[in-house]
Amino acid sequence: MSNHPAPLSTWARNVSPSPTLAVDARAKALQAAGEDVCGFAAGEPDFDTPEHIKEACIAALKSGKTKYAPTPGIEPLRKAIVDRYAAEYGLAATPAQVIVSPGGKFNCYLGVLATCSPGDEVIVPAPFWVSYPEMVKLAGAVPKLVLADDKAGFKLTPAQLEAAITPKTKLLILNSPSNPTGALYTRAELEALVAVAVRHNLYILSDEMYEHLVYDGAKPTCVATLSKEAEVRTITVAGFSKTYAMTGWRIGTTLAPLPIAKAISELQSQMSSNVTTFAQYGALAALTEKEKTAAALQKMLVAFDRRRKFLHAELNKIPGVSCLLAEGAFYLFPNIASFGLKDLDFCNRLLDEEKVAAVPGSAFGAEGYLRLSYATSDEIIQKGVTRLARFCAALKR
Ligand SMILES: *Cc1c(COP(=O)(O)O)cnc(C)c1O
Repeated sequence: MSNHPAPLSTWARNVSPSPTLAVDARAKALQAAGEDVCGFAAGEPDFDTPEHIKEACIAALKSGKTKYAPTPGIEPLRKAIVDRYAAEYGLAATPAQVIVSPGGKFNCYLGVLATCSPGDEVIVPAPFWVSYPEMVKLAGAVPKLVLADDKAGFKLTPAQLEAAITPKTKLLILNSPSNPTGALYTRAELEALVAVAVRHNLYILSDEMYEHLVYDGAKPTCVATLSKEAEVRTITVAGFSKTYAMTGWRIGTTLAPLPIAKAISELQSQMSSNVTTFAQYGALAALTEKEKTAAALQKMLVAFDRRRKFLHAELNKIPGVSCLLAEGAFYLFPNIASFGLKDLDFCNRLLDEEKVAAVPGSAFGAEGYLRLSYATSDEIIQKGVTRLARFCAALKR
């Protein structure tokens, strides 16, 4: 008999912890120790959830909405989600096609689990949101990373997609606007990618978490609405976390063709059951009390846009740094390759020497960049970018 228990599972040994949460945790620990940290690492709005959404949740809790709900979500919320897709994109769907899950992250994972078997390949454009490759591995499938750098505007081309497809390819993951780059694909660019996916009969997981956070009059595209062929193969993930400053609520949404929606709901019924029942009533208010919600969103958008333009201009003033002006989300992804440091070393030194927290591009599959979130106060952005400039100047000496 051995004193050592058996090894943990393949899944437990192969999964990597979220590097973005790790940097944020280190920055918060420094802050707790009394250091004056400028945090650009957080992946969530710095605003609080709008009051009317909180009130609706509190009222539901007080009125006893404390029991199990249907696995895919309370009926009025699923209906409201269908209504908003119809109003925003002209997409016709039924509540049976909607699954409300505990966070958009889980919606994505269930989408992968519903479509991918062990050994299947999944195309993940890089820079990617950190969880995609890990989710694919947790399904026993194989992530195929395809890099689109800043020269390509961080956008995958149809030729790159075509070249990455093999007979084992099952799923293409799209994320526009993108975390970490903020890049927004145009409708025409998505049409061209979808045409390739249709030709090879791939499923598409379209993560549209940042659809409402777009600037300069840009319009998001709902991939499922591009064509009938797109609609039958696309799993659309969206949610409440980023648009309505509700990250801690853990509510995300899937809209999918009926057979996929059924499979996802059955998977969820065995893995988590329904999202917290009274929280769903808060989400419902976000969709039904439209004027209040629009006003709250507009306030956030004005602040994000102001910070985006400021940070972008300041970054491009720093010798050795170059940064695209992203059209969506709340991130910029400057290129820092000219300093000749690994981006992880750059970030560690930046935090140690200047108390500025940023996430290295390599965490997103793109060495030589930083992800800077501008979902933080104007003061912190101003102070942080000044420190970053000083740090870069010292590196150049
Ligand atoms: C934040 C995020 C999600 C999921 O958000 P939840 O907090 O789980 O609702 C999904 N995709 C991307 C790209 C994100 O940035």
